[in-house]
Amino acid sequence: MSQADENQAGREVTEVAPQILQDLHSKYADVMCPVHGEHPRFEVDEKGGVVESFCCDALMQIFRELGSREREA
Ligand SMILES: [Zn+2]
Repeated sequence: MSQADENQAGREVTEVAPQILQDLHSKYADVMCPVHGEHPRFEVDEKGGVVESFCCDALMQIFRELGSREREA
């Protein structure tokens, strides 16, 4: 991969980030905190990485369990 290609790939990640967040939000639309009725939230940090945010530990636990179940499947 040439340097120009790498730069292009980096730009693509930034551009599709909103779509990734939308996909994550719809993917976890069924996941709801039993205490607060909140869904998991996803944001993009300054490095372009996706950051998960939860209203409390209960929702985080549910989210983590879903993730581990997906890896087993
Ligand atoms: Zn909560």
